[in-house]
Formats: sequence, C-alpha cells, structure tokens
Amino acid sequence: MLKHGRVCFSKSRYQSVDQILGFHSRNYSSNNVSRKSCELLVLGGGAGGCSIAAKFVPKLDKNAVIILDPSDVHYYQPMLTMVGAGVKKVKDCARPMSKVLPSGARWVKDSVYEFEPENNTIHTKLGASISYNYLLVALGLQLRFDLIPGLEEALTDPESGVCSNYSPLYAEKTFSVLQKFKEGNAVFTFPNTPVKCAGAPQKACYLSEDYLCRNGKRNKANIMYKTSLPVIFSVKHYAEELVKLCKRRDIDVSYRQELVKINKDKKEAIFKLLDEPEKVIEVPYSMLHVTPPMSSPSELQNATSIVDSTGYLNVNKNTLQHQIYSNIFGIGDCTNLPTSKTAAAVAAQGKVVCNNLLSVMRGEKPRAEYNGYTSCPLVTGYGSCILAEFDYGLKPLETFPIDQSKESALMYYLKKDFMPSLYWFGMLKGRWNGPQVFRKIFHLGFGK
Ligand SMILES: Cc1cc2nc3c(=O)[nH]c(=O)nc-3n(C[C@H](O)[C@H](O)[C@H](O)COP(=O)(O)OP(=O)(O)OC[C@H]3O[C@@H](n4cnc5c(N)ncnc54)[C@H](O)[C@@H]3O)c2cc1C
Repeated sequence: MLKHGRVCFSKSRYQSVDQILGFHSRNYSSNNVSRKSCELLVLGGGAGGCSIAAKFVPKLDKNAVIILDPSDVHYYQPMLTMVGAGVKKVKDCARPMSKVLPSGARWVKDSVYEFEPENNTIHTKLGASISYNYLLVALGLQLRFDLIPGLEEALTDPESGVCSNYSPLYAEKTFSVLQKFKEGNAVFTFPNTPVKCAGAPQKACYLSEDYLCRNGKRNKANIMYKTSLPVIFSVKHYAEELVKLCKRRDIDVSYRQELVKINKDKKEAIFKLLDEPEKVIEVPYSMLHVTPPMSSPSELQNATSIVDSTGYLNVNKNTLQHQIYSNIFGIGDCTNLPTSKTAAAVAAQGKVVCNNLLSVMRGEKPRAEYNGYTSCPLVTGYGSCILAEFDYGLKPLETFPIDQSKESALMYYLKKDFMPSLYWFGMLKGRWNGPQVFRKIFHLGFGK
C-alpha cells in the first residue's frame, strides 16, 4: 500500500508525485519532542490552512502558530484541469511545502490522528501531542479511488484509457489518453458524494471535446457526461447555458447515473441508475475520465464530537466557528458549510475566520459573516470559460459588469494565467480575500 498525502492507492507501480518532482522535506520542526503547545494550531497547510496561518503569524508572538501537515508538496489544485488538457504540467502546480508556509510559523510534518477538544489537544500519527489555545481545522477532502472496484488498477495501467484530473498522479495521463484516442466513447463521470470544485468534471469533458475537434477526431468520438446529480450545475443561471452548450456540441448528458465498477480488460464501465437502484448499465469506453468519490478525512470522521452526521466539521455557516467548541474554527472543504467546495470559497472564508478568531481571542463575540460566496471557472474549451460565482442562496454574485453565464475568452485567460499568481502571491500570503472589493467597484458600489 503506497500512501501519497490524502490519496490511498494499493499496489501502485507509480512513484509518489513528491518523489517524481524531487521535493523533499526540509526546514520542519522535529518530532523528537512528543509534547508541543502553541497559541494557534492549524491542521492542514493547504489553501485554507496556509492562508490563515499567513494572516496570523504577523499578529501573534514568534512561534505561536504551528501548522501540521504531512505533505512535502503544496499543490495549486485548480490548475490540474489545465494539466489534463495539456496546457500545463503537474510541476507547474506544485511548490515545496517548506517554501509556501509562512516562515514565522512552525511546520510539524505529521498528520493529526486523534482529537481531544475538551482538553484542547490533538494527537499525531507519529505519536506527538500538541496542545493549543485556538484550533483551525483545514484538512480538505480525501479522494476515495478505492471505493470503485477496478479503478486503481485501471488508473495505474498506462494503456487502460482511464484517467482522472483529481490527482496529481494521474492528471497528465488525461492528456496522454486524449492524444492516443482514436475512436469510440469518451465518458466523463461525477460521483454520488460531495466533491471539490463541482465544475471540474465537466471542464474535463469540454476541454477533451474541444481537443478532439481541433485534432480531427471529433466525428469518431461519442462524448458522454454521466452525473449522479439531477442537474448539470446547481445554479440555474449557468445550468441553462451549459445545457445549451452540450446540445450544440453534441455531448450526451445523463443524470442520476453513478460509476460503480470498471472492467479494465473489457474496457467497460458499470453505472448504477440511481432512480432505479436495482438496475445497472454497461458502457464500453475508449476514454474514461473518473471523478472519484470523496469524503472528509477519516481522522476527522472519527472525531465524533466535532463533526456532524455526515463526518464534516460542524461549524456555524455564517461565523465559521465550531458549533460546540468556541476556540475551534473551520475553513474549506472539510467543513459542513452548505456551499460549493472551492479555493475561491476558501479565500472569501479567510477574512471571516480571521476577524472572528481575533474577536474570540479578545474575548468578544464573532461578528463577521460569510455569505457562502464561491466561484467556479467553467472552462468550456481552449480559449473560453464561463465564470460562475454565487452565494448560499445559489444566486449569482458576479464580479464583472457583464453576464458571466456567457462564454468568454477573458475569463479563460484569467483562469489560466492570472489566478495562479493570485493564489501563490495573494491568497497563500494571507492577502487575498476574494473579489468582493472589485465587485463593489465594478457595480458602482451596488454589488454585494
Ligand atoms: C481538479 C481540481 C480542479 C479544481 N478547480 C478549482 C477551480 O477552478 N477553482 C477553485 O476555486 N477551486 C478549484 N478546486 C478546489 C480547490 O483546490 C479546493 O477547494 C481547495 O484546495 C480547498 O482548500 P482546503 O484548504 O480546504 O483543502 P486543501 O487545499 O486540499 O488542503 C488540505 C491539506 O490538509 C492536509 N492534510 C490532510 N490530512 C491531514 C491530516 N490528517 N493531518 C494534517 N494535515 C492533513 C493535506 O496534506 C493538505 O495540504 C479544484 C480542485 C481539483 C482537485
């Protein structure tokens, strides 16, 4: 069993991406001392954990912030979509963790294993205990490739035609499968669980369709998008345009279908019909892009006193403070916030967490409120994108003074060229809280 960060793969013939990229751990706090304590403990050094730590390091004493994360590499995950399309490489999405975490924080390269919130303590996989005054939980989601029989085996076979943009291990394989594609069904799936970036499965589909058009293979391809959801996108404003787009480009969309098994040797995918659960259908494929089932990390699910019945950190949806423990806050994908799980949502949540945590540290009530803002750049081809932005009420909350449900080249270049720098130099440094200020300016002060 090879473990790479959050993803569990059995019998993988692949090296971990950390090894491939040559990133090795350095500059992290030693685990020799088995007891540590700090003012603020941040669990997870991903998009949410790193950006909040960066905000607090200048506000607190030296070494007051500990970040716990086992990974040597920090990935800018939104770029994996462009890797699958051959526009970027995995190395473009990756930076050494030691370089992105704020230098004034102590990085402990280990994983949280057990929570003891009543004693303000957590225990780690390597046997250390860390006590804290305040805790931020930012553990992201775990990918469950293992839940679909035949999937891991198919992903690690270079000739299987099965790929996934969701892991840095396989995103480059998507482009290689596209290049090798000759004819037949190209199938794209969406699982029956919450996922990060709910638009990413269809971005893979649109980019692949465009690739096949541009390379003279489209008339030999039957493109199928099979989703467990009853709609193509949760926000009507964008869903209407996406349905039209699929019709125009002859993409066959099926709803309420869940990938449950892969028969690699026969190149057959088995789907359950969710409204007729006793029925399954077998779909032959030449290309199969899989979005795996996802869940909150197992360690968090096991911490029953701090999660809800679905295993996600139980926070107040406005203040992001834990529902029971007032010194615990949550951010990002591992929380039960009823909004779409994206890095854009994390940026907007960052300011609220920071203000409210500072209030609690001063003995005041948390007052800042998160409105559910999230955003998804739905890349529809090489050079076009629909930038979806919306709130808890699934109402569009668009930054630009144009109808963003229409495909636009500007949004494509924003996504491809501008957003990565905004992430590395703005968000991870604690300086980017989402586009609210620009929305107000562009809407002459009337934007929310
Ligand atoms: C293919 C793809 C496309 C996407 N496209 C977009 C997009 O276009 N726009 C957008 O805004 N978002 C997009 N996203 C989603 C975005 O990347 C995530 O929503 C965002 O990274 C969530 O941030 P987070 O801090 O909650 O989790 P993460 O950034 O995933 O960080 C979680 C961290 O926790 C660490 N961790 C895990 N378990 C433990 C443990 N037990 N102990 C300690 N640390 C642990 C991990 O190593 C990781 O560093 C995309 C994601 C993917 C995969």
